[in-house]
Order: sequence, then C-alpha cells, then structure tokens
Amino acid sequence: MHYNYKYRLNPTEALTETLLHHVDTCRQLYNHVLYKLNEEDGIPARYEVQGKLPDLKTWWDDLGDVHSKVLQMVVKRVYDNLSTLKAQKENGHAVGMLKWKPPREYRSLTYNQSGFKLKNTSGRPVLWLSKIGEISIHLHRDIPENATIKQVTVKQEPTGEWYATFGIDVDEATPEKPEKPEQVVGIDVGILKYAHDTDGYAIESPDFSEERGRLERAQRDLSRKEHGSANWEKQRRVVAEYHADLKRKRRDFLHKLSNYYATEYDLVAVEDLDAKGLVELPGNSRNRAGAAWGTFLRMLEYKCEREGTHFVAVDPKDTTKECAACGAKTDKPLWVREHSCPSCGFEADRDANSAWNILSRGLEDVGVGYSESTSSESLCDSDVRTRDLLSLTPVETALPVDTVVSAKRVVETGSPTLKERTASAVSE
Ligand SMILES: [Zn+2]
Repeated sequence: MHYNYKYRLNPTEALTETLLHHVDTCRQLYNHVLYKLNEEDGIPARYEVQGKLPDLKTWWDDLGDVHSKVLQMVVKRVYDNLSTLKAQKENGHAVGMLKWKPPREYRSLTYNQSGFKLKNTSGRPVLWLSKIGEISIHLHRDIPENATIKQVTVKQEPTGEWYATFGIDVDEATPEKPEKPEQVVGIDVGILKYAHDTDGYAIESPDFSEERGRLERAQRDLSRKEHGSANWEKQRRVVAEYHADLKRKRRDFLHKLSNYYATEYDLVAVEDLDAKGLVELPGNSRNRAGAAWGTFLRMLEYKCEREGTHFVAVDPKDTTKECAACGAKTDKPLWVREHSCPSCGFEADRDANSAWNILSRGLEDVGVGYSESTSSESLCDSDVRTRDLLSLTPVETALPVDTVVSAKRVVETGSPTLKERTASAVSE
C-alpha cells in the first residue's frame, strides 16, 4: 500500500537560500522544456527529453547545481501536467495550453529513488538531500519500519513554511474482511447536519464560522493594500496562514470521523458522490460540502481497507424517497425533515430513513445474506414487509434515535464516546 507522510522542515537561512535556488532552477527548466515542446511538431517520448539533460548542462551552469534525478522529475512534471490537460480537453493542442510557471506557482522539488536519506544522528533527525545538505526535520510520527521510501517532495507553502512529503510503500497484508459483518452502519450525508447514521447519531458539522470570518477579514485587508508592496506581502502571508489553519481543522475533523467509522464497524455503507442533497444546496456551500464529502469518502475508503472493514458506496437514487421499512416511494420536498410513510406508517427523521436505505443497499451490494426477521416485533407493527436489515440489530435499536453528538466532542476525543448510547432513550 502506498502512503504519503508529511513532515515539517526547519531549514537554516543558508539552506533556505539553497532550496529556493534549486526550486527556481527547476522552475526555469520546466518552462524551458515547455518552450521546446511547443517548437516540436509531435511530442517526443519523455525519456528522449530526459536524455537531453546532460547536453543542456554543458551551457546551463545552474542545472549542474541540482541533483540529476530531481531534474528528471521536472520533465516528468511537464508530461504529467500534459496528460492531465489532455484528459480534460480531448481534442485541443494540449502543449500550447500548458502555462508557464511564475515563481508563485512553482514551489517544490522531488527526489525520486535516490539522492535523499533520513538520518537520526544523536537523536536529532535530519533529512539529507544530495547537493543541498542536511535539513532539520520534525518527525512527529515514525515512518513504519517495513516501509520503503520511494520519493520525497520538498515544498514551501505560501505561508513560508517548508514541508517534506515522503511517498512510501508498505508491504503489508491487508486484514481479511469478515464474511458475515456484525457491526454494520449506513451513513447519510445530511443537509443540515454533517452526517446521519443508522445507529441514530447525527454528527454535526463543526462550526468554523470564526475561522472563516477571520480569513475573510484578512482577505479584505489584503485587497486594500498596494499589490506587491511590503505590507501587501506581509498580509498575503497572514491570509495564507489562516487559510492553512482552516484547511487543517477541516481535514482533522474528517480524519477523526472516518477513523471512527472504519474502526468501530465491520461494514460501512455510504452514498456515492453524487449525493442528492448537494444539488439542493446553494452554489458556494454545495462546492464546499461536495469537496468535503469527496475527501471524507476517500479517507473512509482507505481506512476501511486498512482495518479490514467492508466499504460500500451505493447508488444514491431515491434513498430519501424510499421508506426504509416497506420500500414505498413518496416525494419529499427539502423542507420536510420527517419521514412518515403513508403506506406502512413508519416514522423517522428524513436523514435516518435515508441512512437505513443506504445500509440496506450496501448489504445487498456486498452480498451479505441475512435471514428474514426472526423478531416478531417488526419495525412498523404491521403486516407490511420488514426489510431484512432490520433483523441485524436488536429491535430496540432498529428505531432510529436522534442522538446529536457535537462535532466538537468528536474532534476533541477522537470519538469513542460516540458509542455511549443511552439505553433508556431507546426503550421508551
Ligand atoms: Zn413504509
């Protein structure tokens, strides 16, 4: 399995100068390669272009300062960007559309396979980079012992901070997924709340309005300053810092939430990305919610893989309309927050009902067979069909209970407390 591990670097002033020189040389090479490709009729193979690097060095002195593998990765970067662009615009002349990189948009360099080493001399960890030197690194977590470091990317963030990202391969046996998952959960991404699951929990979206307000004020201040002035540059850093802070907090929450579901359950069912709710949101918040949901799904998927948990992304169609108890479809406008089935009488929170539908589809997708309900007390107390999934859980938990857990608690505790369900609330 492939992972990225990111660490903070603390280069001295002299090393910072060297790093910046290397990054800028790479940027110029990037623009040069692009310029040359524009002159060509067809596009030569990447290795052909890389093969010309030694010749280039004979008249371009700065190239000699940079590790040769790093230069090769610059060529690869041009080609990678080309293929991304080609995928986006199928028929256009992709090379002509690729843009030159100004310094602000080119901030990193990559060592691949060789030219780097992680050292730990006398308890002070450093990252050694060929032709640059030893940079102090903050190893806040260890790289697994059975890992192979494939490459390292060194980047200066707009805040001015330097980071090293290690691409590592870990040779690990992924745990088997249980044939008969017992702890199963369906999660609905709510519109008003962050997520709603079949165990009756609504996870509220964390409140970042303070952080967002701070960022917006800083951006307004920036727009009032003279572009390029010293004050402007100072303010630009402030904006970048606030931005990074907000992003980190959002990711942190998603990490904890996905960790919780991947470790507590044997099977997790979610809706595939075209979550219907997003369409109903106004543009801006839709983009934000959509991006967060996508990130959450990716995190959840790889964490489930790592934990040996089934991960199922199901067809989102009609999960809101369908009755989780009998399957009858009813239209519900967005403002109707309750599900009340005209056909069987089942009542639940709108999102809880969807979560049950999602779980039911997830179980079907995985092909997990469950026997018909053995319980005589069906969910709806009537003769209508009771979904198989309802027999998975004791009857008292089949009725979704709305337990709102504040996101703050999830963030602070890493969330095992989420499981503390009050039995009394359920049996009433
Ligand atoms: Zn029904």
